[in-house]
Amino acid sequence: MRACIIGAGLGGLATASLLVKNGWEVVLYERERIGGRALSCSPDEYENLIKKFEMKIISKNLDTSLKGYKIDLGFHLLGGGKKGACVRLLKKLGINIDFVGSRLGLIGDKIDYPILKAKDKLKILPRILQLLTTRKSKIEEMKKISIEEMIERYGKGKLKLILELFPRLITTVNDLSKISAGETFFAQRELLGGHPVIYPYDGLESISKSIANYIINNGGKIIYKKVDKIIIEDGVAKGIKIGKEEREYDLIISTIPVQHIFSVADEREFPDEWVNYIKKLKPTGSLVSYHAIDIDRIGNALNKSFVFIERDVDFEGNDVVGMVDFKMNYTLGIAPKKKCIIQSYAICSPEEAKNRKKMLELKDIIDKNLERLLPNYEKYVEWSIYSSIWHLDGVAKTIDCIKPNVNTPIKNLYIAGDCVSSKGVGMNCAVDSANLIITSLSSLLSP
Ligand SMILES: Cc1cc2nc3c(=O)[nH]c(=O)nc-3n(C[C@H](O)[C@H](O)[C@H](O)COP(=O)(O)OP(=O)(O)OC[C@H]3O[C@@H](n4cnc5c(N)ncnc54)[C@H](O)[C@@H]3O)c2cc1C
Repeated sequence: MRACIIGAGLGGLATASLLVKNGWEVVLYERERIGGRALSCSPDEYENLIKKFEMKIISKNLDTSLKGYKIDLGFHLLGGGKKGACVRLLKKLGINIDFVGSRLGLIGDKIDYPILKAKDKLKILPRILQLLTTRKSKIEEMKKISIEEMIERYGKGKLKLILELFPRLITTVNDLSKISAGETFFAQRELLGGHPVIYPYDGLESISKSIANYIINNGGKIIYKKVDKIIIEDGVAKGIKIGKEEREYDLIISTIPVQHIFSVADEREFPDEWVNYIKKLKPTGSLVSYHAIDIDRIGNALNKSFVFIERDVDFEGNDVVGMVDFKMNYTLGIAPKKKCIIQSYAICSPEEAKNRKKMLELKDIIDKNLERLLPNYEKYVEWSIYSSIWHLDGVAKTIDCIKPNVNTPIKNLYIAGDCVSSKGVGMNCAVDSANLIITSLSSLLSP
């Protein structure tokens, strides 16, 4: 069986690796470079690359030498620690990558690290477990209940704060009335664990590079070409077109942002209902920033992460939640000796991300929280970049936006990546989509 995968982001790479493992002949096509939205680059390449990923620079100060730094497209941490889909896949493939993990601190009137002390967990966990177990049988019903409603019913003290923070961090959506309690509750348990957020040594690209090597070493192919068209005849996907050349495959899996699928597949071949549904799916947005600084200036924040909540601001959801992280530093091989990149992000809607005025307001919110965490930090920043992104997560995991399944109305055409309805969000969701593809194809896979 010959499969063609369009896109070598984490979704495409994960799917290719599992298909190869299951004996398929796999060709992966990538128009840019492997890693997709989870790629690393030198700061000099950054400006050109982000244009291709629905991002825009809002502010920058790049006057000094950027030599020796490696950056991603923007803030990147893997949620769910080592229990997340990404680490589980690496294990399954026998790939060994080291990660640095941390707990989460809170930037408030004072800095509280970690937010959840052992005594808080003892107090909160039984309540959360109770909510989970009493409602487990009614998980479908819970999916329709918003976190806002949940807070009204059960939110008191620190549990209220946790319910205000984590569902927003998990979904990259500020509006609590849109976040489904059912979808985020199980993920919450992971965030309460030992190392809720992790980052790989050698940068994010170490993940995509090692999966790509696995694919090639096991007979798969990666071809650096843009796919121009998916050939569909009588409701069946038959192959792809690159320029004028046609190539036939038994199975086609697209991982390009699902809202853009009709740029390569003729929408007249799909039922109108599906076309309208896909076109309306909403992604998520953020402002991400990098600040390079001397390690001596960050006190004991090295390798730690901190979250903040800015209340009663003029953004969708009324509050803005964000994170500041110190894992991108020389101890992980990402910055020159004794240097650290502070990576931060603040959540916003995709519409707000496209609005420069709103992004400057969000920049002020990030700066204010950096100042609370590291007084006078600005004096010591060597270079900085702020970029807005309006396609952070392919499809928002919200009550009013139901993510599509991996199969499409077209026979032999599947979709994978972070836009489909799999576990978790972002990189974990993209990787987990590969498991769903394998399950869907189980009858076709070799025994
Ligand atoms: C700034 C930013 C910050 C983020 N922060 C986090 C975070 O902290 N934690 C987290 O878990 N997630 C985060 N995410 C989300 C995460 O990066 C994505 O969910 C994940 O990388 C998506 O993987 P994917 O394979 O679904 O899609 P992509 O990575 O977008 O892969 C799709 C690939 O398809 C290729 N392609 C498109 N069209 C074609 C074509 N016609 N022919 C051939 N190739 C094509 C593209 O070049 C791309 O490589 C962030 C994303 C961004 C942009």
